[in-house]
This record gives sequence, structure tokens and C-alpha cells, in this order.
Amino acid sequence: MSLTLQGRGVSDGLCMAEVLLFSKEKLCAPDVPARPPEEELACFEAAAARTRDRLQRFYNEASEKLGGKEAEIFDAHLTMLQDEYSVAEPIRQAIREEGLSAAKAVERQFDTLAELFESLNDELMAARAADARDLKEQLLRAVLGVPEQDISRLDRNVILLAEELVPSDTVKMDTGHVVGLATHIGGITSHTAIIARTLGIPAVVGLSGWEGLEAGGKRAILDGTAGTLTLEPTAEEAAAFARKKKQTEQAERELAEYRRRPSATRDGVPVELCANIGTPEEAKTATSFGAEGVGLFRSEFLFMDRDTLPGEEEQFAAYRQALEAMAGKPVIVRTLDVGGDKKLPALDLPREDNPFLGYRAIRMTLKHPELFRTQLRALLRAAAYGDLRIMFPMISGARELRAAKTMLEQARAELTGRGVPAGRVRVGMMVEIPAAALMADQLAREADFFSIGTNDLIQYTLAVERGNENVAELYTPYHPAVLRLIAATARAAAEHHIPCGMCGEAAGDAKLAPALVGMGVRELSMSPRLIPRIRRLLSCLTLAECEGRARKLLEQPDEESVRRCVEGAQV
Ligand code: PEP
Ligand code: MG
Repeated sequence: MSLTLQGRGVSDGLCMAEVLLFSKEKLCAPDVPARPPEEELACFEAAAARTRDRLQRFYNEASEKLGGKEAEIFDAHLTMLQDEYSVAEPIRQAIREEGLSAAKAVERQFDTLAELFESLNDELMAARAADARDLKEQLLRAVLGVPEQDISRLDRNVILLAEELVPSDTVKMDTGHVVGLATHIGGITSHTAIIARTLGIPAVVGLSGWEGLEAGGKRAILDGTAGTLTLEPTAEEAAAFARKKKQTEQAERELAEYRRRPSATRDGVPVELCANIGTPEEAKTATSFGAEGVGLFRSEFLFMDRDTLPGEEEQFAAYRQALEAMAGKPVIVRTLDVGGDKKLPALDLPREDNPFLGYRAIRMTLKHPELFRTQLRALLRAAAYGDLRIMFPMISGARELRAAKTMLEQARAELTGRGVPAGRVRVGMMVEIPAAALMADQLAREADFFSIGTNDLIQYTLAVERGNENVAELYTPYHPAVLRLIAATARAAAEHHIPCGMCGEAAGDAKLAPALVGMGVRELSMSPRLIPRIRRLLSCLTLAECEGRARKLLEQPDEESVRRCVEGAQV
């Protein structure tokens, strides 16, 4: 009997391999020194030198294998280790003057440092606290002579299963043989998630329940899209995996050439195919799949899974990174959209009975001007590094759009006051509330672009909560009411000569995409992996054919007939 554990998929893909349990036993520093102080001192110096050499090696390897960003972590560790004033000297003093063992002195000093960094309640300092803890482990191991589990040279493919993976773990990882990552601790922006996406391997975080299962050495299937780890799959599950894997590989090979082509209909009408991303690292994946821009950069990733709010600098660095990765292609960054099902631990937001109809997105940020303007300043500054466009979420009418634009101007004035130039950027809005779609002709006078968010537009039009399993079958983009709102929005945008895109999941639906283009949606933004398929599809159809499909769908009386039309349509 197999056993499937459910976690959260944070890096797409599918793999089957043996599970390698990566466990780190807790290191224990003895209170009483086993040797005289001079020997404890010598032990510390030797351990520090070994750790220094090792970090230098990690730094070189990370620069080569993973790029500058990953390498910076080891540079930060090296700098901390070499800090005489707050690291080496206090440790030596504790050994010499207080008679502590080298291990105890190391433990105490790094704990003190980590607590100090944490108490400053600042995002950069929180990262320094994590550095201090990681470095403490490394030095303690060197002092106590406890070897680590070696994952640097593996002789077979494995899925690495661990409580948590930190940078000094993953840099040693044999990337030729680690084909998937699964951890208990971590979120969408955790190190595990980022490294997996960088390497293009599946990853699942938030996995629990495996601790007593002796999973090590067992065969397993890891599905980074579904967020599952299936231990000891049955013959049928293994066969289904093999089929799915083969299909995906074959389809990807065929589609590969469509990564590099520009997107257009058969008669040459350009349709921009862009990517939805959730972290700056994903911008690289976006370009590798041929994205012509980023149609939606969900900035929430910077704010969630943490107890403090990100400051201007941290945000600026993240937006800049995404812009630089896109090398001049447009990047639409959506301002903070939390509330609904997205929690924001750093702010004590009220509990609500109907969170999707409550204090969400623009409604919340307009009431937190300091938080909002910090983000807007970071965006305006980052705009100097590429083609950045700002998009406001959940706009229900002109009043909110104007208020958000006023905030933007205030943020610009704050920067100017600091002597920081802030150029003009295009300012658009999500159309994801039916009221906005119905008022699109008015809103188009005040927005530089629209992007239709079908994920929310469907739930608000049909009164069907997007994640509610009990009503899941009612949640569909094929309902004629949803299609009419999309068409009305695109028409209003065309009449006022502003671009109309779509960044909801429907944009990547191959059954619908041609009709969307026919309705006048000329930028479709989706998960990067879907881009080549949609590009190939559109290249087979003329604009007139797309318009024909749109007209036909808009005439349908109900969802079933729309479904029949889209399923019957042949390319
Ligand atoms: C949408 O609502 O369609 C959308 C893209 O935004 P999100 O899914 O982040 O709410
Ligand atoms: Mg939305």
C-alpha cells in the first residue's frame, strides 16, 4: 500500500526516485571544558580556519553552479566569521577568562548575536540572525568534530527529504543526482523553494507526517505541482507516473521551438504572451519559456510567511532583480494583494466572516498609507532598471483608482524630496470585480492599461468562492456572464486605446485563448510553462478565426453550450 502525503507544491515538475533522509542531529556543547584553556583556544582557532576554508570553497562552488545571489550568502557568513570584534574576540575571551569550552563559547556568542539581530525587528537583520544560526552549526561541528551527512557525491538519483534545508545544505548537494526536494519547514519564498525553481526540479514544502515512517531508502513519487509525496507507489501509480512523465517530456520537446518565436496569429497580429511570477527568481524561468514580459508579478511573496514587513530597500532589490532578469521587457508589478485567503502575519488584520468581500488588496493598502507608499517608492526607484508598470488590484471604481494614483504621486514627491529622481511609469488596474468590468469605459479614461483577473472575476460574478470545494463545479470561466464581462472590458479598452491583458488562470486555457484574442485581449499572462503551447495554438489561427470563435461563444445561452463550443473547436 502506498502512502501519499500532502504538502504545498512550490516548484513544478514530477519525479520518481529513492528518498534520501537528510537529518541533522542536534549538536550539544559541553558546559565543562575537557581540556585546559590553551587547548580549547587552539581547538577554536583550528575549527575557525577549517570553517573559513570550507566557506570559501562553498562560495566558489555557488558562484559557479548557482550564480551570484546564492554565493552572497556564503560571503556574508565569511564576513561574519572574520568579524574580530563581535565574533572571534568575545569567543576567545570567554574561553580564556571564563573557562568555557570552545564549543560552549561558540554557542553562546552566536546565540547572543542571533538574538540581538532578531530584536531589531528589521527584515535584513532577521536574515543576519539566520546567518548567525547557520554559522554556529558549522563552527560547532568543526569544534566537536561531528561530520555531516555527505550529500555532495551521490551514486543514484534521490528525492531529498528533510525537516528544513538551509543554504549551506543545498550548496553541497549533488545537483546531478538530487531530482526533488521535500521539506517540512518552508513556504513559497523559502530557500528550498527558490533553489528548486532555480535548478528546475520539483519541490514540496509543508510536508508532515513522515517522521515515524522510516521513509529513507523508500521509492517515492514527488509531484511539485500537486504538492504530494507518494511513498512506495503501487504498480498502477508508478505506471501512471511513467505515462505522465513521458507525455510531458514528449510535449515539451515538440513545443521547445515555440519558446523562441514571437507570438502572433497566423496572419501576423501580435499577441503578447507573458508570465505570471511570484518571486524575482521566477523571471529567469519566464524568459526561458519565451515570455515576452511579466504580465503579473504578485508582490505578496515579499510580505507573507514572515512576521515583519519588508522595507523599501528589500522591496527595491526584489523588483530590480525581476526587471534586470527581464532585460528591458515589460514587467507589471501588482501592488500588495492580501486579505481573502492570503494572510499577512506582520499586520494584525481583523478576522472577517466574508474575507473575500472584506478588507482585501487595495482596500487594505489605502488604509495603510505608510505601508503602501513604501512599496510605491520601492517600485518607482526600481523603474530606472527596466520597463516597470504598476498595477492596482481589486479596483471597484474610479474613486479607488484615483486614491491609489494620489498615493503614487505622494510616494514620488517623497522621493523627489530625498533627491531621488523617479520617472514616469504606466499605471494600470486589475479588472476582477464585475463593477470594474461594467464601468470599464469610464475607468479606461484614467488607467493606462487593464489586466483582467478571471480568478476573482469568476468568483464575484457567479458568487462562487474560488477555493470552496462544495461549489467547485460552479466555478468556471465558461459561464456566459463571465465571457460578456471580459468582452465588455476589452471593448472599452479598445475604444479608449489602452491595452487590455488578462492575468487570471483563464489566459492559459488553450480552449479559451483564441476566443479571448478574438474579443480583443492582446496580452495573455500565464504560468511560464504554458506559453509555448498557447503560442503554437495562436500561430495556427487567423484573427478573423479568433473573432469568429469569440462571437460564437458570446451568443451561447449557458455554460454547457459554451463548453461544447470550446471543446468542439478544432485548430
Ligand atoms: C485574478 O484574480 O485573476 C488574479 C490574477 O489575481 P489573484 O489570483 O492573485 O487573486
Ligand atoms: Mg485577484
